[in-house]
Amino acid sequence: MHQFISGQSQTGTSGRKLDIVDPSTGAVVETVTLASAADVDLAVAAARAAFPAWSTTTPGERSAVLSRFARLLEEQAEDYALAESRQTGKPLRLAREFDIPGTIDNADFFAGAARSLEGKATAEYSPDHTSSIRREPIGVIGSISPWNYPLQMAAWKILPAIAAGNTIVLKPAEITPLTTLMFARTLQQAGLPDGVVNIIVGDGPEAGAALMRHPEVDMVSFTGSTSVGRTVLEAASTNSKRVHLELGGKAPFVVFEDADLEAAAHGAVAGSLINTGQDCTAATRAIVHHSVYEEFVTKVAELYRGIRVGAPADEETDIGPMVSYAHRDRVASIVDRARGYATVVTGGVIPGGDLAAGAFYTPTLIIDAAPDSDIVRNEVFGPVLTVLPFATDDDAIALANDTPYGLAASAWTRDVYRSLRASREIKAGCVWINDHIPIISEMPHGGVKESGFGKDMSAYSFDEYTQIKHVMFDITGIAHKDWHRTIYRLR
Ligand code: NAD
Repeated sequence: MHQFISGQSQTGTSGRKLDIVDPSTGAVVETVTLASAADVDLAVAAARAAFPAWSTTTPGERSAVLSRFARLLEEQAEDYALAESRQTGKPLRLAREFDIPGTIDNADFFAGAARSLEGKATAEYSPDHTSSIRREPIGVIGSISPWNYPLQMAAWKILPAIAAGNTIVLKPAEITPLTTLMFARTLQQAGLPDGVVNIIVGDGPEAGAALMRHPEVDMVSFTGSTSVGRTVLEAASTNSKRVHLELGGKAPFVVFEDADLEAAAHGAVAGSLINTGQDCTAATRAIVHHSVYEEFVTKVAELYRGIRVGAPADEETDIGPMVSYAHRDRVASIVDRARGYATVVTGGVIPGGDLAAGAFYTPTLIIDAAPDSDIVRNEVFGPVLTVLPFATDDDAIALANDTPYGLAASAWTRDVYRSLRASREIKAGCVWINDHIPIISEMPHGGVKESGFGKDMSAYSFDEYTQIKHVMFDITGIAHKDWHRTIYRLR
């Protein structure tokens, strides 16, 4: 029963099944029945049917559901952490201290934000009319989320959409659907009416594509790779849907010569290895002034060698396995190709022994790669950091921007002017100064360039999930309006 449609758990009708695998052991956690395009039709119809009532609830009513939901999430936090860790392999510590509290905070934020949505003041911009602006929900949202933070990505899509009065059909990545299904059930317990949130568990080419091109879907919001994002954009063009895309990243991590090197080295380790490097904002390209380059590489290599790769439930584990064997092998093959043109300082190993059964990979530090090489330019999405040296501040900024992506970046410096220049000139949706990774519910997340467009989280996300309507009232009461004479003469 792995489809959640109109408040009911249902079986997918594609005739295909998929094992959800714990990538730390290879054990099957659950087997899901995948959705067909017909299941997508049912889910979209449920969302369409629920829209009139949900979109006319008051902000206070929507807020109350989200507040109850946040409290239920708190009560169920441990179940969520265990399920999230099991389906992704992420350390339980990360799930408990980052994924779950972050999601609860998001729910609390949108419970409050739902009540502060407003249009602009009503006013007269012509002497004969009063204009007002209405901010309205868009309708049925079709969303697709990735596997790296399944719960948080579902929250980032669902919460602003329903807080603004939309209804939604969300398709999580098929290999990690469990916490998204739990999320929908917890919303139901919190009093969300049936049909407002529907979950389709299916693969991309069948269920995902059907959702993106569905004529009854008014907007698509997609988080995933840049290549699939392009197909989503094309599908959405068939009936001119509104589109919100959160795509890949290749974040630069710029270390100027005056930086606190101890802080930068530790920041690079945490920023590149979070979630085993499977984070769209992860530090992937360290760009380091040549005067501190050797010291930086030595420090990061030393810290990388001390990282404990291990079982997700072990409190001593720093990083768990990658999400799947296929993804681990893909990352390993990218690193193996890079050995032909770059130097692997440490890592690049598939561990054996106790870890042989899982999709593990060791933290990998790479130097001597050319700025235009595959490993530096393209998204690897694993525990891999490259380091490039630079000579001048101009070079540093140019290297930071030498990528098709623009999701996130950081600059490390104690010079206020350098930090201001970096924050202004690096093209990315977020620039951290002397840190890398932290996110907060009140501030937007989203990219520029080929990292997509539109914002998740924060009040800015309502710009995606609402539309503006101009209402113009005649205030003269005159039947024969003066401007009519430009069209016809009164007889
Ligand atoms: P992916 O693009 O392979 O898959 C993402 C989702 O799209 C999955 O649910 C998948 O089933 C679906 N999909 C695949 N083919 C499809 C198709 N033809 N039509 C419709 N849907 C389809 O990405 P992934 O491997 O799951 O996730 C990793 C990628 O996501 C990385 O590129 C990462 O940078 C990106 N990501 C971006 C953000 C962000 O906020 N910008 C956040 C997390 C992940």
